[in-house]
Amino acid sequence: MKEKHAAVESAPKKSEEKKSQDKSAGSFADLGLGKELLAELAALGYEEPTPIQRAAIPPLMEGRDLLGQAATGTGKTAAFALPLLQRIGRAKAVAYKPNVLVLVPTRELAVQVSEAFHKYSKGLGTSVVPIYGGQEFRRQIVALHRGAHVVVATPGRALDHLRRETLDLSALQTVVLDEGDEMLDMGFAEDLELILEATPEGRQTCLFSATLPPRIASIAERHLKNPARILIPRDKSNKGSMPKVRQTAYIVPRAHKTAALGRVLDLESPTLALIFCRTRIDVDELADRLVGRGYRVESLHGGMSQIERDRVMKKARGEMLDLLVATDVAARGIDIDHLSHVVNFDVPASPESYVHRIGRTGRAGREGVAITLVDPREHRLLRNIEFLTKQKIAISTVPTPIDVKARRLDLTKGAIRELIQAGGQDGFRVVVETLAAEFDLMDIAAAAVRMAHEASAGENPSEDDTHIPTIESFSRSKYGSSDAREESAARGGGSRHYESKGKFEKRGTFAAKGNKPGATPGAWTPGQGAGVKSGSSGGSASGGGGGGGSGGGGEGHGRNAQDMVRVYIAAGTRMGIRPADLVGAIANEADVNPRGIGDIEIGEAFSIVELPECDVERVITALRRTTLRGRKVKVHRDTGVRQ
Ligand code: ADP
Ligand code: MG
Repeated sequence: MKEKHAAVESAPKKSEEKKSQDKSAGSFADLGLGKELLAELAALGYEEPTPIQRAAIPPLMEGRDLLGQAATGTGKTAAFALPLLQRIGRAKAVAYKPNVLVLVPTRELAVQVSEAFHKYSKGLGTSVVPIYGGQEFRRQIVALHRGAHVVVATPGRALDHLRRETLDLSALQTVVLDEGDEMLDMGFAEDLELILEATPEGRQTCLFSATLPPRIASIAERHLKNPARILIPRDKSNKGSMPKVRQTAYIVPRAHKTAALGRVLDLESPTLALIFCRTRIDVDELADRLVGRGYRVESLHGGMSQIERDRVMKKARGEMLDLLVATDVAARGIDIDHLSHVVNFDVPASPESYVHRIGRTGRAGREGVAITLVDPREHRLLRNIEFLTKQKIAISTVPTPIDVKARRLDLTKGAIRELIQAGGQDGFRVVVETLAAEFDLMDIAAAAVRMAHEASAGENPSEDDTHIPTIESFSRSKYGSSDAREESAARGGGSRHYESKGKFEKRGTFAAKGNKPGATPGAWTPGQGAGVKSGSSGGSASGGGGGGGSGGGGEGHGRNAQDMVRVYIAAGTRMGIRPADLVGAIANEADVNPRGIGDIEIGEAFSIVELPECDVERVITALRRTTLRGRKVKVHRDTGVRQ
C-alpha cells in the first residue's frame, strides 16, 4: 500500500518534462528486473510500470506472498509474470514439474496469460504451456513431458492432469490465482483447494482479484502467509482535486479507434489536444496516421532525445501544433495553458492516472475536454474510474462522416460570417457584379463558399468513408463480470447459438434467425472443459435462445450455394477459437455484415467460413492483418488442401 501511494504521488508536479527520462524513479529497471526482461519490455514499447506492477514486482521478486486487488486492464499479468520469470531465470525445465502454476478462470485467459508470459520471456527462453478444458489431453501431456517452467491452467483441467499424474506440483515454487473472484463465481472453490493441497508447503502464493468478497478473504487467510497487500485505494477519490472537465467516452473496437478519433477531433476542433497512448510504438503509429488527416502532429515519448523533446515542446507552447501524441512518461508534468483536450487513446491503467492526465486541461478557468476511447473489453475499467472519481463519464456515439461534414460547413459558415462583419470585401464586389450579369446571385455565392470551404477544410480524408461499427447494444447493465463474456458480447456480430457436433462445431445460417447483428451476447454451448461458460447472465430477452438450429437453413446451407465461397482460416479449437470469435473478427475487422456469413465449421487446427463472394477479398485482407486470439493466422480461399 505504502509503496503504491508513494509511486503514484512521486510524479513531478511542475512543468519539468526534462526529468521524465527512463531512469526516473520507478522505472522497470529500478524494480530490479534483469536485462533480458528489460529488453523485451523496451521492444514492446512499455515505458514504465503501471501502479499495480510497481507495487507488486518487488515483493514478488523477494518471494513474498501477495494479495492484489485491481481491475481488468491494469497490467496485472505483467505484475506477476515479470517477477516470476525473473525468479525462474534460466533454470532447466523438468518434465511434468513446473516452477510456476497460474490458475485462471477461462480458457481465453489461459491463452492470453500464457501468451503474455511468452512475450515477456523471449530473452530468457522460458517455456510456457497453457492447459485448459476442451483441448486434447495428448497435446498437453506432450508439452508437460517436454518440461514447462510455467503452466497456465484452468482449475478443472489442472486437476485432471494431477489425477492422471501428468502434472506434478511437488517442485512448485509459486502458484498464482488470477481473477480469484471470477474463479469462485464459476464454482472452482473446491478445485482450488484440491490443487493448493497438492503444492508444497513452502511455496509462494499470489492471489489477484478484482473484488475482495469474504470468500476471497477467507482463501487469502488460509493460504497466504504474511502477504504483501496491494489494493487500489477505494476512498482516495481525489474528489476535491478533480478538475472541471467535460468527460466523454466513445466505445470503439480497437481496430477502429484511429478512424473514430479522427472524426471526433474534426468535430471538436481542439486548440491543442494531448493524446495518450500506452506504448511508444502506439504513439508513433497514431501520430503518423493523424498527420495523414491533415493535423499538425508531433510525438513525444521516452525513446526520443532530450533535444527532440525540447523541440516538440517548443512547438506545442508556440501554438504550432494541433495534436501532441505522448506516453505517460514523456508527458509527465507537461503544463500548457492552451491545452484544450486530453485524449485517452486507451483507458489508462489506473484511475489515478486518469485523473492525472485529464488534470492537464481545464486550466486557468478554461473549459477542458477529456475524451476516452474504450475498447468494448475495457468498459469495466471505465466504470472503475467513474466509481473512484465519483463522476460520470458520458458515453457518446462516434460522429458519422455526415456529422463531420456538417461541422466543417459550420466552421466555414462561421468564418464567412466573421469576414462579412469585418468588412473589406470592396475589391471583390466587381467580380460578383460581373458574374451577376450571367448567373443567379445565390449560385455565385454558393460556388464561392464551396471554394472557400474546400480550400480551408481540405479534401475529405479517405478514412471518412470507412464504416465504424457502433456498438449500440453496449449497455453497462448488460454485461456480466467475466472478461470472457465481455469479450464475446462485445466482439460478436449477433446471436450465436451453435451446437457441438462431434469434431466440428457447426452453426446455422445467420439470416435465418432474424436477429439483429450486434444485439445480444450469444448462448454458449457448455463444453466438456473446465473453462467454458454456459449461458450468459446479462443478455437481453431477444437473445440467442430463440432460434438455435431451427431456422430456415435446412441442413445448414440456407442460401444460394453458388454465391458462397469457403474461406480457410488456420485457427481452430486448439487455439480456443469459437464461432463468435470468427464472426466478431469478420464483422469488426473486415466490416462485413455478419448476416451474410454462412456456415462456420471449426476444426482443431483450422476453420472454414462461408462468405458471399463479394466479401471474400475484404475478409481475407482484414483477417491477415489482424490477429485471432493474439496470433497472426493464415487465411485463404479454401482449396481443399490442408497444411
Ligand atoms: P489485467 O490482467 O490487469 O486485466 P493485462 O495484464 O491484461 O491487464 O494488461 C492490459 C494491457 O496493458 C495489455 O495489453 C498489456 O500489454 C498492457 N500493459 C501492461 N503493462 C503495461 C505497461 N507497463 N506499459 C504499457 N502497456 C502495458
Ligand atoms: Mg488479467
